[in-house]
Amino acid sequence: MESIWSQTCELTKRPALSKDIEVDVAVIGGGMAGILTAWQLERAGVRTVVLEADKIGGGQTKNTTAKITSQHGMFCHTFLAKKGEETARKYVQANQQAVEEYKRIIQETKIDCNFEETDAFVYSKDEGKLMQEAEAAKRLGIDVSLERHLEIPVDCTGAVRFFGQAQFHPLKFICELANGLQIYEDTVVTEVEDHLIRTSGGNVLAAQIVFAVHYPFLKFPGMYFARMHQERSYVLALEGAGKIHGMYIGDGEEKFSFRQYGDWLLLGGEGHRTGENREGGCYMRLKETAAKLYPGSHVAAAWSAQDCITSDGIPFIGIYTSDRPNWYVATGFQKWGMSSSMVSALILKDLICNRENPFADVFSPSRFSAEEIPHIVKDGKKAVAGLTRRFFQIPDETISSLERGQGAVVTTSEGKVGVYKTEEGEIRQVDIVCPHMGCQLSWNPDEQSWDCPCHGSRFDVEGNLLDDPAQEGIQCSGIQE
Ligand SMILES: Cc1cc2nc3c(=O)[nH]c(=O)nc-3n(C[C@H](O)[C@H](O)[C@H](O)COP(=O)(O)OP(=O)(O)OC[C@H]3O[C@@H](n4cnc5c(N)ncnc54)[C@H](O)[C@@H]3O)c2cc1C
Repeated sequence: MESIWSQTCELTKRPALSKDIEVDVAVIGGGMAGILTAWQLERAGVRTVVLEADKIGGGQTKNTTAKITSQHGMFCHTFLAKKGEETARKYVQANQQAVEEYKRIIQETKIDCNFEETDAFVYSKDEGKLMQEAEAAKRLGIDVSLERHLEIPVDCTGAVRFFGQAQFHPLKFICELANGLQIYEDTVVTEVEDHLIRTSGGNVLAAQIVFAVHYPFLKFPGMYFARMHQERSYVLALEGAGKIHGMYIGDGEEKFSFRQYGDWLLLGGEGHRTGENREGGCYMRLKETAAKLYPGSHVAAAWSAQDCITSDGIPFIGIYTSDRPNWYVATGFQKWGMSSSMVSALILKDLICNRENPFADVFSPSRFSAEEIPHIVKDGKKAVAGLTRRFFQIPDETISSLERGQGAVVTTSEGKVGVYKTEEGEIRQVDIVCPHMGCQLSWNPDEQSWDCPCHGSRFDVEGNLLDDPAQEGIQCSGIQE
């Protein structure tokens, strides 16, 4: 099902690139990060072009919950303890500046995008954690309070409240903001070498290049695949659930997300690492939670999305690698990509315009300290485990036992293949080796897709590419049962 954002906003179609061009900056990717970066650059007088494989906002941005906040879960105490006061303070300030920049742009441009200022809350059952978080947030200079009575029916002892945050309709915003930018849609970037970008429609020569593609698709340089994994979560738009005013996120086991959009209450949760979904049932469990919390409500829309998670909990924003000083990256948004996209746009604009940015060092992709490296290696090892899994895992299902509307990895005379049985009983057979790095794909019963546990690429039952970092589909053949 489409998200409520896609259902309530039609984006204008833009032309594909059909000739060779030359620009100051090429931004690859037209999601929230790419469009905001291009807009900030154009405002600074830099000739910029956006190259988008599909349509703007059509990646993860169309499936967000669109809270604009510097409250990224229960993070202040942990950041202070692990990263020190200066880094923690800069992280919060950069994100709060991003919230203010949204307010400024929307006020200035008068974009009609259901923008509302509101407060953000992180709730918990753990009294100790709440106290620690409120204290840490105050120490970092945030306007906070500890609340005991919440308007949402969750089992908790209270919540830490950040004042002056916001929520909006992400596609209405992006659609208006994109007017006036030079954007090519249906233009897939296939190769990048120094200043030359090869696309499906022509070559682009760019002095500087920004990768705002959600998950960088080039394996080298940068090795971003070894630094991040993806996590998926699910959203329901509930009708008849009453109205709430704030934006909420849980901490601990029952980590649900709440916000209002019009008559719909958006309930999010059931997150997991992409590809680790053998049991499925995420939508079902979220619907059970909705029925428990809001009896009498009903589900008007349901959708899911995924985001990149870095090993130290901070996005990668800045110069792509030291040996590509004219390439920039914005990724690893940790499911907080509305504020992080704006942080990216402001940092990248300054870097490209040779201006100082007070927050750039915190987000720099080359920031790792010695003690953080083992975590990266650990996450990388998980990816490598996925790479070898296909040689050892014995699947326990066969084509004949497969139910209609279900998929599984099965052994055939040719080896292991992914098999999906349509509702009509037809078989779709796919190559379950991910074209990105060769990991074995697993079946996702919630989304009826083939998902990669290593880096999060996803494919539909016909083998078409759904989510990056892979840039191509997998082979599919149909056989009659
Ligand atoms: C369930 C869920 C809820 C969330 N809710 C919130 C929230 O409330 N608040 C918040 O701050 N964040 C939230 N997030 C995170 C946020 O939605 C994302 O971080 C953000 O949308 C990512 O934007 P992006 O521009 O980086 O990526 P995308 O929107 O995915 O854009 C990347 C674009 O690059 C294009 N592209 C890729 N490869 C190529 C190529 N080779 N050539 C050309 N173009 C290419 C794609 O087509 C795509 O359009 C949520 C995430 C999830 C999973």
